Amino acid sequence: MGSLDGKVAAITGASSGIGEATAELFAAEGAKVVLLARRADRLGGLSKRIEDAGGDALPIEIDVTDHGKVEAAMGEITSQFGGLHHLVNNAGVMLLGAVEGWDISEWRRMIDVNLMGLLYCTREALPIIRDSGGGHIVNVSSVAGRTANFGSAVYNMTKWGVTGFSEALRQEALNSNIRVTCVEPGFVDTELQGHNKHPMVTENVEKMREEIGKVLEAEDIARGILYAVAQSDHVNVNEILIRPTGQKR
Ligand code: NDP
Repeated sequence: MGSLDGKVAAITGASSGIGEATAELFAAEGAKVVLLARRADRLGGLSKRIEDAGGDALPIEIDVTDHGKVEAAMGEITSQFGGLHHLVNNAGVMLLGAVEGWDISEWRRMIDVNLMGLLYCTREALPIIRDSGGGHIVNVSSVAGRTANFGSAVYNMTKWGVTGFSEALRQEALNSNIRVTCVEPGFVDTELQGHNKHPMVTENVEKMREEIGKVLEAEDIARGILYAVAQSDHVNVNEILIRPTGQKR
């Protein structure tokens, strides 16, 4: 018997990294998983792997910054799986750089995905989770939601927002039997860092990776998320901060 048998879980950013690992782990624990991201081919491959292993998966191609698409996705989840228990707000981008003179479109993208996307998904999922008997919302923030650093100002701003929002949401959602957990990963080996093109940024990221030594794998964070979600109903793990052992800040 799996710890998530009978549950329906939606995971944003399921096409790679932490979201993909979480979807596979949740499916292995018996949850029906809804896979949300833009890259349909990646979602299709993951969905097939999960179904080949005996699980249930529903891939939905979606840009979380499009509120209409988020609403439509929630409707599809309800009609396909009859409800929703858990939402993992994981989709995110990290585009680092100095504040002065930086590309405004990169700031807007981070704010749209990391904040507005998370807000849209949460807003539309809340009544469905409540009407399904309650469940869990996991927001993936970051160490960058607790520790600010030169070159990371706008990413810090978005992740600080996710951390603060999570605690306020926890206080609101408990009235609907919904638990909220904020997860704050340190350096995880995923595609996230690779979206940075500026040489100063990529050099700093690689320097940090070398200083740490063994960085985290996406599965390390997925296990942390499962730990929170699989607790008894009366136990709300509010916050989980996971750094690689060798990460100083
Ligand atoms: P990845 O780049 O591997 O995954 C990011 C995911 O977000 C992808 O599945 C991507 O899918 C999805 N995504 C991006 N933009 C959108 C969008 N507009 N609509 C829907 N989905 C979108 O990185 P990680 O797995 O590392 O990142 C997951 C979360 O973890 C992020 O919130 C990140 O900030 C956080 N985090 C990561 C750390 C790390 O070191 N890796 C450290 C701390 C926090 P697609 O492109 O197919 O849409």
